[in-house]
Amino acid sequence: MNTLPHVLDGVVIASEIKAEVAREVVDLTSRGIRPGLVVILVGEVPASQIYVRSKVKTCGELGIYSELITPPESITTEEMLAMVADLNAREDIDGILIQLPLPKHVDTKRLLEAVAPEKDVDGFHPVNAGRLQAGQPGLAPCTPAGIIEILRRTGLPIAGQNAVVVGRSDIVGKPAALLLLNESATVTVCHSKTRDLPSFTRNADILVAAIGRPGYVTADMVKPGAVLIDVGINRLTDPADVQKFFPGDAERAATFAKRGSVIVGDIDPAAFAISGAYTPVPGGVGALTIAMLMHNTVKAAKLRRGIV
Ligand code: NDP
Repeated sequence: MNTLPHVLDGVVIASEIKAEVAREVVDLTSRGIRPGLVVILVGEVPASQIYVRSKVKTCGELGIYSELITPPESITTEEMLAMVADLNAREDIDGILIQLPLPKHVDTKRLLEAVAPEKDVDGFHPVNAGRLQAGQPGLAPCTPAGIIEILRRTGLPIAGQNAVVVGRSDIVGKPAALLLLNESATVTVCHSKTRDLPSFTRNADILVAAIGRPGYVTADMVKPGAVLIDVGINRLTDPADVQKFFPGDAERAATFAKRGSVIVGDIDPAAFAISGAYTPVPGGVGALTIAMLMHNTVKAAKLRRGIV
């Protein structure tokens, strides 16, 4: 009997997480602790402005205190370091998020390392990367942490599964691999130098694609019944590509006609049909990122005060 693949709905899971965070905020506030997040947005990058606005709005919805700092594009590394030092010292702030990308003249690495690890809600600080590697409590990067939430909350097994992660970036691939390893999956990490990628991906019970190439993982690279986690966000602007990845999809065609682009992940949507379960793009992994940021802010508020 054929069963349809299960759609792993990131929007629904994100709402669950946000509802839990809101309850925790009520509990903490009743104990005199109001979790607080500061977002620093430098300059006027339209995409960043959209992300930041929705982060600040979600804080408001969940009862988290938020502050938005918007220095001009001309700010120097030294000035930003001073700003971060002030925020590190503030008792009412639990999370500091520096929206990337920063202007070229600003030293991003130095800045990210200047954020106090206990306030590093993006989980990018080397101390948090080390804690993740050591399996110690800390703040894990939001997108990979969201992947684990999707798997856990849908009751999909992780322990003992062959998990293959394609991509080894510090913000997605590597932490995703470590989180899966900490959940006792048997993990393989692939990247651009991997020889014969399909021989690895075909062995995956859980396949995480974090590559940044539209529809790169094709159906013939996937084991039937596998769980497909598509992290990729790629914008298609050529109608031929839209036709290639979404043949006969009237909804996508209408979106393309209206906006001049549609989004596709790193997995060819044709592969979803043979999977056991998959995260759609959009509405899958990406939908969880802000919810996990809120989760990390509350976690930071608790960890900092030794509340378990
Ligand atoms: P990076 O460009 O930093 O990393 C891409 C990784 O893919 C690298 O490790 C690279 O290998 C590997 N890779 C590139 N080409 C190939 C190939 N042909 N075969 C195998 N591996 C390859 O990207 P990110 O990790 O930042 O992002 C990955 C994707 O996830 C992007 O589409 C991005 O937009 C999306 N994303 C989505 C988020 C969300 O919220 N859903 C959040 C963050 C990212 P190598 O190291 O050898 O160069």
